[in-house]
Amino acid sequence: MKMKLAEIAKAIGAENNIEQWKDVEITSVAFDSRQLDSGALFIPLQGAQDGHQYVESAFANGAVATLWASDHDVTTTEDQPILVVDDPLESLQQLSKYYLHKINPIVIAVTGSNGKTTTKDMTASILSTQLNVTKTHANFNNEIGVPVTLLNMESSTEVVVVEMGMDRPGQLDFLSKLVSPDFAVITMIGEAHIEFFGTRDKIADAKMEIVHGLKEDGTFIFNGDEPLLQERAANVEQRKVTFGRQLTDDFYATSVNQHETSIDFKVNEWPDEEFTIPMVGEYNVNNALAAIAVGKQLHITPAHIKKALKNVELTENRAEWVNGAQGERILSDVYNSNPTAAKQVLKTIEELPTTGKRIAVLGDMLELGDASARLHASLAANIDPKKIEEVYLVGSEMENLQDALEKQGYPASAIHHYSTAELDKLVVDLQATISADDLVLLKASHGIHLEKVLAELTTK
Ligand code: ATP
Ligand code: MG
Repeated sequence: MKMKLAEIAKAIGAENNIEQWKDVEITSVAFDSRQLDSGALFIPLQGAQDGHQYVESAFANGAVATLWASDHDVTTTEDQPILVVDDPLESLQQLSKYYLHKINPIVIAVTGSNGKTTTKDMTASILSTQLNVTKTHANFNNEIGVPVTLLNMESSTEVVVVEMGMDRPGQLDFLSKLVSPDFAVITMIGEAHIEFFGTRDKIADAKMEIVHGLKEDGTFIFNGDEPLLQERAANVEQRKVTFGRQLTDDFYATSVNQHETSIDFKVNEWPDEEFTIPMVGEYNVNNALAAIAVGKQLHITPAHIKKALKNVELTENRAEWVNGAQGERILSDVYNSNPTAAKQVLKTIEELPTTGKRIAVLGDMLELGDASARLHASLAANIDPKKIEEVYLVGSEMENLQDALEKQGYPASAIHHYSTAELDKLVVDLQATISADDLVLLKASHGIHLEKVLAELTTK
């Protein structure tokens, strides 16, 4: 971006006289004084710390101007351009909206309990084959991250793909109205934050807020296999497009084949084409379908879509294959877990051929509230004793899975349970049982710290 301070001051209604600085040129915005480009406008935010205390360091690192909250005494020097405003966060949001209107790209908003970042990356990859695309950096998906994404668009941007997170009602209403999307995408409704929301119905209600700002001629793209979304979509006036695994969906996958590091599938729209995504976890097929649905609406050809998916660069590829110290193959997904994803990676592991054993190491899935015991137990249905020979469980919630497995006849001698304080013992036991041809799955919420186990298993 490139804007003079005079234009910015006008857009956000700065309270001070900036005549002497009106021609100062801003080329980016930043709220972290340690990570800013020269030419940045610094935004002092109120977090655990007050951002104003970092204004000096922001200038030292290349900032050329800063916002300044009117209730703070001014401590900058005469040659440091400041814009005095009521609330720097609100000004950041207001400025991002102004800049968005000025650049006027097609806006794609992506939300969902899981799969937002993956879908955002896939969508951006597909659209980049024929359009100039900006996407959310990393996981910057909240009231601060979304404006920063918008403000860091180049002026040539034709499409912006914006990830939107939410952990309370009203948040997506705000973000959706901020960006007025042309496409609003909901990947799925899961159990994330159910502790706070209580029911999946309430999660679905909150996710639906993504259509509050949807343009009149915009399109709502959602997972058609989710009844909670189907019900609610009936009240959406805009065009609707569904994706999923059912024949009733507008975009559905057929011939899904999982390989060790990739998945092939076909899409009803182009029955002769085969698509490949370079990752595991069948849930990623749905993420790809959402991205394909957007691509199709924007007239990207299937040949371009194929190429883009095959080469997609993921911000965070969390499920990945690594080599263990004894030659075993480890499917590691230690930063995030939820029932849907855990069931699907269990399936991935069960379907892969091996001459050795399949070993599942599963840690607690956190923040599932009242539903936690039931959801942990529900994984038992996806653990076939003929395919997964040993199960190592970590954390108190996993006791529910242990009970469920024993009840369905899984051999008790092959189930091992550990507290979260016993990771060292887990490592020793795993090292004693693992051999070269084995396939090992590691999956848990980050709070369980299976990454420590991974580190031990991969150290020679
Ligand atoms: P965050 O809330 O952390 O931003 P996110 O919604 O951006 O998460 P991703 O980063 O794309 O999600 O994926 C995180 C994890 O969620 C994956 O590693 C996988 O375990 C799970 N996941 C991804 N997509 C789906 C999906 N469509 N359905 C169920 N689980 C999924
Ligand atoms: Mg994300």
